[in-house]
Amino acid sequence: MVIQERLQTKVSKTCDVLVCGGGFAGISAALAAARMGSRVVLLEREYMLGGLGTAGLITIYLPLCDGMGRQVSFGIAEELLRLSISMGWEAKYPENWLDSDDPAGRNENTKRFQVRYNAQLFAMLAEELLLKEGVEILYGTYAVSAARENDKIQAVIVENKSGRQAICAKSYVDATGDCDIAHFAGAPTANFKQGNILAAWYYFANETGYNLQPLGASDVPDSERASSKKQVKLLVDRRFTGLDGEEISQLVCLSHKATMADIQKKRMDNAAVMPVTLATIPQLRMTRKIVGEYELKESERHTHFADSVGMVSNWKKRGPVYEVPFGTLYNKTVKNLIVAGRCTSVDETMWDVMRVIPCCAVTGQAAGTAAAMTDDFNGLEIEKLQDELQKQGVILHESEL
Ligand SMILES: Cc1cc2nc3c(=O)[nH]c(=O)nc-3n(C[C@H](O)[C@H](O)[C@H](O)COP(=O)(O)OP(=O)(O)OC[C@H]3O[C@@H](n4cnc5c(N)ncnc54)[C@H](O)[C@@H]3O)c2cc1C
Repeated sequence: MVIQERLQTKVSKTCDVLVCGGGFAGISAALAAARMGSRVVLLEREYMLGGLGTAGLITIYLPLCDGMGRQVSFGIAEELLRLSISMGWEAKYPENWLDSDDPAGRNENTKRFQVRYNAQLFAMLAEELLLKEGVEILYGTYAVSAARENDKIQAVIVENKSGRQAICAKSYVDATGDCDIAHFAGAPTANFKQGNILAAWYYFANETGYNLQPLGASDVPDSERASSKKQVKLLVDRRFTGLDGEEISQLVCLSHKATMADIQKKRMDNAAVMPVTLATIPQLRMTRKIVGEYELKESERHTHFADSVGMVSNWKKRGPVYEVPFGTLYNKTVKNLIVAGRCTSVDETMWDVMRVIPCCAVTGQAAGTAAAMTDDFNGLEIEKLQDELQKQGVILHESEL
């Protein structure tokens, strides 16, 4: 059965740049666009910023360095890392990066430039920063559709307490993590083939304080499975696309069940153990991505890309450095749409590298800066974007390190 709806949707807001999704990618994009002088609206379906990195309780800011002693991700990626621990950190602290200028203390045997932070503090600090930079934040606002006219998005349709409305912008940043806006606008996208394993990261308290319990360790990509001796201990024998409402609800219930079982087990040894937070967004690593003008491959380590917009490292291995081509952030079929975060155009193995927080901040800064400069990403003069990013402190090429 189909219900025929007749909709006339009021335009409630206009702006220069509409950033959809307030995870690390969206925060970075909104910050970059606002600092370029754009009127920016950031919409977020939850009531806090940070996405998986706060509401999802994933509080490990993976490395900005290559593991061999060189920092490779700069700009907002570093600013957000420092912001995340500006009121204190959790667990290990990389003093060789944060308190020392001595390069000798940074090599293949020393700590990598990564931190653990408090989710709630970061969410409030990020909000404060964005408001200070003039970003308008719309919480509780779900993007549900996109109105497209020819090869441009005319409006993103949203729903919140005020009902259904349209927001019009010159350019749009899809930082939903799931590539929702690209999907709604009819840009080519691809789904994660392997499927997500169940994760159930939560915090518990005991006599010594509160502790992160990461249940459901990282997966081994299909491409590495045959050659890898690594075994993944699954919480449930099932995989999840993360793109179906019913399936996501089942995933959340299974995640709660795994948390409860773990808590009960811990409480048998120590009755003081209590859960203190549950994730309020589903812990999905990879779901849907844009099919961009370029697809970055994991094998393209140490490759020079003329259109690089920044660099990322590999959190799993010391050594690899990847320049991020601008072509991974857009598809020319929808001219005024750019993506950032865990839905950029990469191959399946690179996806597992590119989805993590520092990489999301790197692509967010590039996308937000570009969105402030143009409403036609295919026509953007890449050198001008690169000049801007360099002024913001981003290093574009490995040869410049
Ligand atoms: C179990 C697990 C462990 C991980 N471990 C680590 C780790 O140790 N370190 C690390 O750095 N990374 C880790 N990651 C990956 C990392 O947390 C995320 O990939 C990264 O935070 C993604 O950032 P993002 O901004 O691209 O997307 P998200 O954090 O997913 O943010 C997207 C935001 O958009 C909002 N949104 C989505 N759809 C809509 C819509 N239609 N309308 C409005 N708002 C919308 C969401 O509410 C969310 O706030 C892990 C991920 C998982 C699941």
